[in-house]
Amino acid sequence: MPYAHEDNSFEYRTLGTGGLACDVCGKPIGPDDLVAVCPDCGAVVCKECCEDGRFDEHECDDWGDMDESSD
Ligand SMILES: [Zn+2]
Ligand SMILES: [Zn+2]
Repeated sequence: MPYAHEDNSFEYRTLGTGGLACDVCGKPIGPDDLVAVCPDCGAVVCKECCEDGRFDEHECDDWGDMDESSD
């Protein structure tokens, strides 16, 4: 899985569909806009936010950590 590159190197892709918004700045994402998709939570972050170093500002939920302990 060739994912780890140099720092600040995201795998940009297009969604091919509209109706989504950047998880950081809320900008509407067009079908041809380049975005990075978080491998952990699937959040869509626009290229501008990634280049601003704001990728980590999206709410990254730990889906795998089901804390259902009823105390
Ligand atoms: Zn954004
Ligand atoms: Zn995430």
